[in-house]
Amino acid sequence: MTSTLNWCAGTRKVRGVSKYWSEAARQAAPYIPGDQPQGKVIKLNTNENPYPPSPKVLAALRDEVGAQLRRYPDPTAAQVRTAAAELYSLSPEEVFVGNGSDEVLAFAFQAFFHRDLPVRFPDITYSFYPVYAQLYQIPAEIVPVAADFSIDPEDYFHSPGGVILANPNAPTGLFMPVEAVAAVAAHNPSRVVVVDEAYVDFGGCSAAPLVREYPNLLVVQTLSKSRALAGLRVGLAFGSPELIAGLDRIKGSFNSYTVDRLAITAAEAALRDEEYTRTVCAQIVQTRMEFMHRLNELGFRGTDSKANFVFVTHPVVAAADIYAELKERGIYVRYFPAPRTADYLRITIGTPAEMDTVAAALAEIIKLYSA
Ligand code: PMP
Repeated sequence: MTSTLNWCAGTRKVRGVSKYWSEAARQAAPYIPGDQPQGKVIKLNTNENPYPPSPKVLAALRDEVGAQLRRYPDPTAAQVRTAAAELYSLSPEEVFVGNGSDEVLAFAFQAFFHRDLPVRFPDITYSFYPVYAQLYQIPAEIVPVAADFSIDPEDYFHSPGGVILANPNAPTGLFMPVEAVAAVAAHNPSRVVVVDEAYVDFGGCSAAPLVREYPNLLVVQTLSKSRALAGLRVGLAFGSPELIAGLDRIKGSFNSYTVDRLAITAAEAALRDEEYTRTVCAQIVQTRMEFMHRLNELGFRGTDSKANFVFVTHPVVAAADIYAELKERGIYVRYFPAPRTADYLRITIGTPAEMDTVAAALAEIIKLYSA
């Protein structure tokens, strides 16, 4: 039961058009990011890391702030490509660096997907995919995930125009084994399969080592989550030199310098401090398990998330009510009011102290509404 959306036919209605806008601006239906509240709140709505970046990142940044900022950065971000390549025993020609993985994904849509062949992705996934498809006028085949939110890899075999999957998926956190990713790549030999691994370091396993075997597989990662650098904007892609050259062509037609000097310096330092990343991720995974246990005691059910968030529902109290009550208490989580996700909340894993506060607030809310 796949539905095909042809953005060119104007399937997404836009309100309030201006006579000054181009066709692209009129048709666009921008992604709505989570709130970015300032001040003293518990912010668990955009899957940021609760811990600071590696001290080595901060030291490298301090050294980089100086007279060299008058110079343009290296347009290839070679030192980041090299450091990222070493993580998976790849070569720098198999790595691309962009301004956050959102930019890398946008370039991938332009480089590999087509205006006359639909790209395939799940109905519940990262909500930027339909936004890019519409912006770049790429038709989409949207495949419903199962009732338990799982993805059947076979649904993605033989796609007319390529595939994009998040693994772990967002906002469900469900992880598909790398063997399934390999099968999707193997069954689309003449189309590109993009796997968005934004959350892979919190319990998943990367498909990056498979890019040598599958020249049509592009693995996208970010430094925003496991490396605590959301504010810096660095994203990566791993793929065959052929795919990386495709991304380079789009980037070089848009902006030679999407990754600035400070981002290059910090990203290299972060990628070279794997011990720190592993320690921080292990702590977040531990907190996730403890938090999920407490939620289960309160009657919540959730997916088996392998990400730095949980995706949970309560049998008695509506997610919209819990969301509003938490916000009133200065706790921001994410609520997606679309039909299949409207009963769920996505809660980012913060520090143990933050999660204690959230668990106590949830216990109070459930009691209030169950009375
Ligand atoms: N992919 C997924 C699945 C995400 O949830 C996010 C974060 N919103 C991104 C990519 C983009 O992250 P960034 O641009 O910060 O690298």
